[in-house]
Amino acid sequence: MREQIYSRIMKRVLERDGWRCQKCGSLENLQVHHRTKRSQQGDDALANLVTLCAYCHMAEHGQLCYAGDRTPQGMKDPGEGHPRLNPKKLTST
Ligand SMILES: [Zn+2]
Repeated sequence: MREQIYSRIMKRVLERDGWRCQKCGSLENLQVHHRTKRSQQGDDALANLVTLCAYCHMAEHGQLCYAGDRTPQGMKDPGEGHPRLNPKKLTST
């Protein structure tokens, strides 16, 4: 039940944001990001949600550092215009 409500909210967020990542404008791999985590009193209000592509979403959560050079499963190269996020590599010279 709750999931049904949630997917409806997500769709409204996507429609509000024009089905574009609000960071890089990507139209693919869209996800809905909670600006404020639910554990931090964030709620499912539309104002608390923003459309991000999987890339920017991961960056938002700081997970790209861990992912290294590996592309997340099922993700295509975001292509031109997408900000390249360069995870810092540990270079020992
Ligand atoms: Zn993006």
